[in-house]
Amino acid sequence: MNVLELQHLKKHYATHKAVDDISFSIPKGSIFGLLGPNGAGKTTLLRMITGIFYPDAGNIIFDGRRFDPQNDVQHIGYMPEERGLYKKMKVGEQALYLAQLKGLSRKDAQEKIDYWFNRLGIASWVNKKVEELSKGMQQKVQFISTVMHHPKLLILDEPFSGLDPINSQLIQNEIFDMARNGTTIIFSTHRMEQVEEICDHIVLVNKGRKVLDGPVKQIKQDFKQHLFYISLE
Ligand code: ATP
Repeated sequence: MNVLELQHLKKHYATHKAVDDISFSIPKGSIFGLLGPNGAGKTTLLRMITGIFYPDAGNIIFDGRRFDPQNDVQHIGYMPEERGLYKKMKVGEQALYLAQLKGLSRKDAQEKIDYWFNRLGIASWVNKKVEELSKGMQQKVQFISTVMHHPKLLILDEPFSGLDPINSQLIQNEIFDMARNGTTIIFSTHRMEQVEEICDHIVLVNKGRKVLDGPVKQIKQDFKQHLFYISLE
């Protein structure tokens, strides 16, 4: 079953076609790589999938029904590339606030915070202000805030930027674990080697258009060739 189906999505900024007739489907529990060079249209696509932007044309089907941002947003976790933590707030207070925004009760949110902060080894940071944390630590807090409400669809935009190898591996293990438990993951990146290591399926976009789409194992060579030509453009 597909958790997400994008049907002929279009979005333009003034006369610029940022997303130009893109369609693809994402099966439940897959780790789906969205790959493309700078300016390809990845962020614009993700913003439509998360309900931040309305498409100019096309449909989004989420969990078998037409996507309804107001209700479905509770089932989506989005970690944008530009991190959105409030620097002056304490880490634990912030996580609590974000979890409640996603519909968790205060008690559930607190339990999830205790669980995740222990799990990722940052329990001692709960009472620190965000601005006291390194970029990598903030990344972990952002990751926790994105997954605490156990979303059906988890969207991660460059989740490893700023993380050292040990913490990257830690987050990678969590991603695998969540996919095994049925969460569907969209992973957006510029880096092919990360996609090969993590994803089971990939879509390559360039200049607002879909270039390739398929299981990593089957289309790896085509992907490398296309990426090479795109890098020459
Ligand atoms: P990156 O990896 O650099 O973030 P991307 O693949 O996410 O790139 P988008 O950010 O979706 O690409 O941008 C797609 C195109 O739309 C780019 O040419 C970009 O310059 C343009 N664009 C994005 N946001 C706006 C905006 N608010 N106004 C005008 N043009 C925009």
